[in-house]
Amino acid sequence: MLKFFNTLSEKKESLKPRHKKRVQLFVCGPTVYDYSHIGHARTYLAFDCIAKYLSRIGYKTYYLQNITDIDDKIIERAKQQHTTPKTLARMFEKLYHEDERKLRITSITKYARATDYIPAIVRQVKTLLKRGHAYEIRKDGYYFDLATFPRYGALSRRTSLQAEDAVSRIDESLQKRNKGDFALWKFSKRGEPYWNTELGKGRPGWHIEDTAITESIFGPQYDIHGGAIDLKFPHHEAEIAQQESASRKHPLAKYWLHTGFLTINGKKMSKSAGNFVTIRDFLSTHENAALPFDATTLLRYFILSQHYRAPIDFNEALITHARQSLITFLDFEKRLSSYAGKTLKMHQGEDRRMTTVRNTIFKQFEAALENDFNTPQALGVIFDAMHTMNSKMDTGRATRNDVIHIRTLLTSLYELFDLRFRTVSIPKEVKSLVTQRESARKEKQWQRADMLRVQTSALGFSIEDTPQGPIIHPTYQ
Ligand SMILES: [Zn+2]
Repeated sequence: MLKFFNTLSEKKESLKPRHKKRVQLFVCGPTVYDYSHIGHARTYLAFDCIAKYLSRIGYKTYYLQNITDIDDKIIERAKQQHTTPKTLARMFEKLYHEDERKLRITSITKYARATDYIPAIVRQVKTLLKRGHAYEIRKDGYYFDLATFPRYGALSRRTSLQAEDAVSRIDESLQKRNKGDFALWKFSKRGEPYWNTELGKGRPGWHIEDTAITESIFGPQYDIHGGAIDLKFPHHEAEIAQQESASRKHPLAKYWLHTGFLTINGKKMSKSAGNFVTIRDFLSTHENAALPFDATTLLRYFILSQHYRAPIDFNEALITHARQSLITFLDFEKRLSSYAGKTLKMHQGEDRRMTTVRNTIFKQFEAALENDFNTPQALGVIFDAMHTMNSKMDTGRATRNDVIHIRTLLTSLYELFDLRFRTVSIPKEVKSLVTQRESARKEKQWQRADMLRVQTSALGFSIEDTPQGPIIHPTYQ
């Protein structure tokens, strides 16, 4: 039985979707004013894998993500770059989709842009006004009145008295009834983009776009709301307050899943600290033709080998460790193939016992995933199984069934994480260096030959000199 840790109840709960085998999942998407960084990648990869897993175990999953394409940050950045907020937002939205394609994030059913839902946003604000949950501040905008929603703070376990400590610029106004009241609709100042609606010329607040979008597509209630942990307050609290006040239905989402923080060498990622790693940066600096997998596989493995709720402190030593783990899988498979080819004879009579073993390993693997999608625990099961198999191969006790079972287990992992392996082809540059080294050697220019070997090795390849000539190997072997 699949269980998730629900931030709302602070407990692990069995997943019981509202519509039997269908799951409605909404995850907060990007504000498109800059490149996405690896902190974003962490959240989006975790939910991509969770969504794919839900489909794999038989749920029909509808994964919805919003795109915040109107916001203070977008307006500000557009001003700095002498462009319009719309042009800037469309450009970064395109780049965001490019990043997702590169990361093989393919589980999202629908992307919904905030600006495509203005009529739904206006409708929701009007409902809140009619029901006494919202009020107007002249020449400023419409605000949600926190005093009308006593449950505020239930998700983050904060009270509205503390609500003032995370308010964005759009929510600032001296005339608010309560400090934590947030903007639903802000009248636009001169030069700012606006929509001319029944609420007046203005633009939506940040929180209202999500509930207008989810209500339009899922209705007032749905199964899972996901996002990064820093969105829990005030963003997700505000969503709950708005939607539950508008519909008078509780809860907005049955399960709230939050991904942990990602820091870089112990520090919060920020442009000013100079430790901002974009997805693009990561992929280009970690792509290596000498490795049998691409940088996407490396990043997917690195992120998914950690539990989605655990904080990650990113550093190169961890990436190196992830790279080594991937190589371990390949080395193991190589040994498996050679063992199967050379020594494998069917040990009759062991079949039934091996099926039980396989079932036990598989059950452990699946149990780890069912336990709040515990991928590190699932990986632990695989590493243990590989260890056992290695000992069996050492003594020649491994059977054909053993080989089949461990291969199936590894394939399940590769599919779940979407890890892809490739055969390394030797780049022209490397071939040319080796040819040059051969001529240097013939001419007894040992120093030059040595230098060429060093250059080859820097590109990730080693040279084995044989009587038949040099053989080039990728160094990872
Ligand atoms: Zn959101």
